[in-house]
Amino acid sequence: MPREKEPGMDIEEAKGRLRLEEIDAEASKCTKCTAARKSTGDDTAYCDEHLRKIYGI
Ligand SMILES: [Zn+2]
Repeated sequence: MPREKEPGMDIEEAKGRLRLEEIDAEASKCTKCTAARKSTGDDTAYCDEHLRKIYGI
């Protein structure tokens, strides 16, 4: 059986997931994210600061 995935891809995926989890934990304590979630009614909304962190800008 040939391997479909490069091992490096898994590491990058894991890093991305870990970063999201960290940002999510921060965002749940962030008053700006809480405000954004209330105003949009979307409980996956983030403030500008955390959006930038998610996109790695
Ligand atoms: Zn935030």
